[in-house]
Amino acid sequence: MVALKPCRECGVPRRFAREHAWLKNGTIVQSKNPDHRMIFIELDNITSTFQGVEEILGIPIDRIIVEAKRRATYDFVDHMLPGVVKAVVRLVGVRPVIRNVTALGRVMGYGMVELARMRRAHSEGDYVTISASELYSLPLFSGDLAGSFNAIDRREVGITHVEVSPGEYEITAHITPHPLELQERLKAKPYANKEGDIELERCPVCGLPRALSFYEWIPERGVILHRESGRRMVALGPATLDAVISELEKELGEEIPRVVAEAQRRFLRSGFYGMEEARSREDLRRALALRGLGNLVGLEWGENRLRFHIENPCLEPVLAGLVWGIFELVTGRDGRVEWEEREDGDLLVEATTA
Ligand SMILES: [Zn+2]
Repeated sequence: MVALKPCRECGVPRRFAREHAWLKNGTIVQSKNPDHRMIFIELDNITSTFQGVEEILGIPIDRIIVEAKRRATYDFVDHMLPGVVKAVVRLVGVRPVIRNVTALGRVMGYGMVELARMRRAHSEGDYVTISASELYSLPLFSGDLAGSFNAIDRREVGITHVEVSPGEYEITAHITPHPLELQERLKAKPYANKEGDIELERCPVCGLPRALSFYEWIPERGVILHRESGRRMVALGPATLDAVISELEKELGEEIPRVVAEAQRRFLRSGFYGMEEARSREDLRRALALRGLGNLVGLEWGENRLRFHIENPCLEPVLAGLVWGIFELVTGRDGRVEWEEREDGDLLVEATTA
């Protein structure tokens, strides 16, 4: 197994620290691709929001999640790392690349994933099987796997999975002989990138926010847990989740952003988050920045209303649902929410009494 040594000061794996940078403007980016944003978020938030959307719509959305994630991963590997991955695969073969990527996945909280078997003879019957336990998301991971091999082999990929024991999966990418059909690029939503002045206390050794020491990385299981609450965290690109939302919107209609906001509101109302991170504007600002969700530059509590002004936001419907849920939890009353994505990329959210 690739060594995943922790920082001697804060305990975060050095690999994780090398790959990610927390900026002062409320965003997290990949160190090597500063245009590629990341979020660091409670896994329950992601899965409950997907579940909430399924409940509200009354249909399963797994297929759409897999497809959106596949296209987003394909775009990322194919366009943001032009030639690099393919050149490395040609040079050292695909196994070390898979080992490297699964090791990275483990420090990002994706679960214990490793190569089980593969056949890659560039003919009919090629496949790659990954074994996984405590996987962060079966549909998101399936999309990742398909998109990666789309980009590496330029061929169509089909995904199947078997649950070999409870919570343990074997996920297989069947690399077909059919050349990848030309596809329209996903229209990635550009993220705003305004300057900011958020001061997060830093680890003097690795430079990551000190607050990350509240989390325990367990690379041999591929999980990141809050040391007190045990909540599981995951680091992932918001662009792929934004792609899922826009795919849903394309297939199912323009009410989808509101459905996502509603799902997030329900999640908040379940009481998952204590409101201890929402005691003051500064606390909230830091809580959002730690998760890479943007820079809270304005917060107003008025009579019967709560307003947020966020620079450099991502996942806008989720943020709207978050404000909606906070308003209802704090006031103990039902509310409604409106939000506006401004021309300059800022997000304005207002929750008011229903
Ligand atoms: Zn450190």
